[in-house]
Amino acid sequence: MKAHDGIYLDGAWRPALSGEVIDVVDPVDEQVIARVPAAGAEDVDAAVRAARAALPGWAATAPAERAARLSALRDALAARKDEIAETVTAELGAPLAFSQAVHAAVPIAVAGSYADLAARHAFEEKVGNSTVFHEPVGVVAAITPWNYPLHQVVAKVAPALAAGCTVVLKPAEDTPLVAQLFAEAVHDAGVPAGVFNLVTGLGPVAGQALAEHPGVDLVSFTGSTAVGRTIAATAGAAVKKVALELGGKSANVILPSADLAKAVNVGVANVMSNSGQTCSAWTRMLVHRDQYDEAVELARTAAAKYGDRIGPLVNAKQQARVRGYIEKGVAEGARLVAGGAEPPRERGYFVSPTVFADVTPEMTIAQEEIFGPVLSVLRYEDEEDALRIANGTVYGLAGAVWAGDEAEAVAFARRMDTGQVDINGGRFNPLAPFGGYKQSGVGRELGAHGLAEYLQTKSLQF
Ligand code: NAD
Repeated sequence: MKAHDGIYLDGAWRPALSGEVIDVVDPVDEQVIARVPAAGAEDVDAAVRAARAALPGWAATAPAERAARLSALRDALAARKDEIAETVTAELGAPLAFSQAVHAAVPIAVAGSYADLAARHAFEEKVGNSTVFHEPVGVVAAITPWNYPLHQVVAKVAPALAAGCTVVLKPAEDTPLVAQLFAEAVHDAGVPAGVFNLVTGLGPVAGQALAEHPGVDLVSFTGSTAVGRTIAATAGAAVKKVALELGGKSANVILPSADLAKAVNVGVANVMSNSGQTCSAWTRMLVHRDQYDEAVELARTAAAKYGDRIGPLVNAKQQARVRGYIEKGVAEGARLVAGGAEPPRERGYFVSPTVFADVTPEMTIAQEEIFGPVLSVLRYEDEEDALRIANGTVYGLAGAVWAGDEAEAVAFARRMDTGQVDINGGRFNPLAPFGGYKQSGVGRELGAHGLAEYLQTKSLQF
């Protein structure tokens, strides 16, 4: 697989000072497919300096010109869409059709949406006797995970550039190749040197050096709650802005009036998609006790269809972690109706599509984010019970409600402590604010709300 042996710094690919490398592994056959630099603290420092030096010029660039660069970036990504899909398939293991439809297509749409927003946003407004300017926050550290590797990069870098911020990106060590493709696209789009910089590297080395760097004004992080907590504490001590997109344990609430078969089938597909490595996945299915047995049977049948169609997990550590959760589910008394902890293949980091029935709300598999193809089906007594269960975790990222009547579903959704709810299978909207209540995070990504995260106001009184 094609890879750059440098970091993208101040408009060019340059060798990392650290001299260390990361092996990129194909999770399907466990073979090393490429090597990229593992940047150290000195490399991160050079990247932050480049971003800081480029900030005044980019911040002063007219929004129309920033919009033109983002539009060119969208086009540069679109021109590489096949290469992007093949790269994500190689380093994440996602089936090619899914990489094309989601991992390549969604970030292209999001980049386009920010070209549009940069052109239309009112960076100046009148409030009574004041003129309020929306100014860039400054140098942004973007630290991203591997599960939607290009989407998560674009969801941070595109609004940051639209706002007039400059960026240092530290992508996940498992998926650096698509981040390098992104840097090529930024270069081809004519974004000035230093405005965007890429340092590939390990989380506790390059990631930590970036999050702690005094030259960074805002840290935008997506990943585990444990790392998010540390980053927030460090940023808090430095009185630095922070945006966190963390885990989820979202509820799929099927009310008695719903089309049960449709709700269960879409619910299972939602969890199995991307092999369950989706922070917003509806991993808890809540079903009324009178429909419970029928729903479990429908979920079992649906899961069986995914047998060979889902890809592996990203790496051996994630595979071991997910298998550990399945074993824990069995040990705590949940009933396995599909899949199990035994890997379905000898080679590759695969886990079988797994469904648990008789899951109670306090069980570990109903409380913690598993990040694999594992669905828990829970029984509720009445609507109040369903609401208590739905809201009964530390998370609040997404969710779903199904009902015969849309108004009934909306009424329930309004009582859920969560940032997004899909009504009767509503589709993903790249312009809708995405982000968490409770411990699912701080701040919002995508659309106009995502742009606002990278802006600060200055009011002039007359
Ligand atoms: P992680 O939080 O360790 O990694 C996410 C990013 O943070 C990566 O770029 C990583 O290099 C970086 N990082 C790691 N340690 C760091 C540190 N000390 N300082 C700064 N940056 C650091 O996540 P993981 O280990 O890859 O996955 C573990 C679990 O996290 C998953 O099982 C899942 O539950 C959760 N997760 C959630 C999301 C999400 O979209 N919310 C994404 C990935 C993982």
